Amino acid sequence: MPEGRRRISPWCSFTLLGANIGIKLIMPKIIILGSSNAIPTKDHENTHMVVVGEERMVLVDSVSNPILRLEQAGLDFNDLTDIIVTHFHPDHVSGIPLLLMDMWLLGRQRPLNIYGLHYTLDRIETLMSLYNWSEWPNFFPVVFYRIPSREMSPVLDCPDFTIHASPVKHLIPNIGLRIQFNRARQSISYSCDTEPCEEVIRLSEGVDVLIHEAAGASVGHSSASQAGEVAHRAGVGRLFLIHYPTGKFSDHDLVAEARITFPGEVALAKDFLTLEFGINNKQDR
Ligand SMILES: [Zn+2]
Repeated sequence: MPEGRRRISPWCSFTLLGANIGIKLIMPKIIILGSSNAIPTKDHENTHMVVVGEERMVLVDSVSNPILRLEQAGLDFNDLTDIIVTHFHPDHVSGIPLLLMDMWLLGRQRPLNIYGLHYTLDRIETLMSLYNWSEWPNFFPVVFYRIPSREMSPVLDCPDFTIHASPVKHLIPNIGLRIQFNRARQSISYSCDTEPCEEVIRLSEGVDVLIHEAAGASVGHSSASQAGEVAHRAGVGRLFLIHYPTGKFSDHDLVAEARITFPGEVALAKDFLTLEFGINNKQDR
């Protein structure tokens, strides 16, 4: 089990990057690439994020136009080593065909790993077969890793971070993630799209940061107050709300709603929010 901590340490810093800022990435971090529910706005792309380490760069879901989005975050898409696909809804997978094609057109040769449930990866393979990808000449190797649908299944392990997945309660098979930043000894969890469920509470137990969806109380989704309740029960340090209604669908203060049920810090995860987990910050504890 990844090591959890009940309180967030001050050396886990939070910054909001502007678009087109070039940065040298040496510190393990998570960058939110999109925060909206299925209907995006110009300021809120569909929910997805990237986990960056010295050796690996892991995209969690892929939507819209991945190359541009990563560039806006100061990242080179060629550095992507892995993609974790949470579930096969268009607002989480629509960018995969374009990303793979662009990598191919620009001459990628090194393998790309893609992780997901059987249900998810079977459909991605079917989707790509519709594009006839087996006929793309000199296409780079794509290696699929099928994650069993059981709690705390290991997904990926490298010096910077260790990732586990648990099934969550959505309209189709879906996974939430727990990411342990090994050197910083901090952890985050991501609920993905889900109703409040015990699986997310167990997945999130004691993490420093919980990133929980707040699309609204309905089948397969959660309200902000429900997200707060999950955060409270899991004993997390800080709660970020994500996958929330944006633009004309944003009709009330979600942070205030979550504060009713969660006494800790709550904030909206906005596009390009960066959570850093670096060893260099340890002395600031
Ligand atoms: Zn979904």
